[in-house]
Amino acid sequence: MITQAVRLPGPRIDAEVERTAHASLIAELADRVSEERHPLEGLFELTALALDELAREPEPRRASAYFMMVALDLLGYAPQLLVCASCELPLAEAPAAFSPVAGGFLCGNCAGPGMHLVSVQALKVLRVMATGGIELYRRLKLDAPLMGEVEQVLEAQLEYHLDRKLKSLRFLRQMRSYA
Ligand SMILES: [Zn+2]
Repeated sequence: MITQAVRLPGPRIDAEVERTAHASLIAELADRVSEERHPLEGLFELTALALDELAREPEPRRASAYFMMVALDLLGYAPQLLVCASCELPLAEAPAAFSPVAGGFLCGNCAGPGMHLVSVQALKVLRVMATGGIELYRRLKLDAPLMGEVEQVLEAQLEYHLDRKLKSLRFLRQMRSYA
């Protein structure tokens, strides 16, 4: 229950549609995470960090993707990135299929025929997001196709595990399809 709100000094989030849409995603995720696991230690600090990052970051997608990973971790649904989510053998350095149902990436033996493969590069970015900390993540070079791959994995995992769809994510997708 919120009893009081105070504006804290810090960078402002520019009034542009895309950045505001990403801020909405961060806020909606924070709300959903606290709904499913209440009360949650550190959620406020992580949400504030993500919004601060969003205000500083020239590419707003980077900040909200990072927060998607944070939210998954807080919910206990962090995707399996090192071993096959089905047979638990270590994943080879090769493109791999992602299965939200299995909870992570699948090895070549467990992936079904025709499953979409995520690049090794995207897999590496996801690993940095999961365990490398935000400092290391900030240093990664992420072009639009790579960012898109990372977002797809995180969005699929989130939407599989949350019982209701994220409204802000639907809006962001509509924006992307008009871009
Ligand atoms: Zn396997």
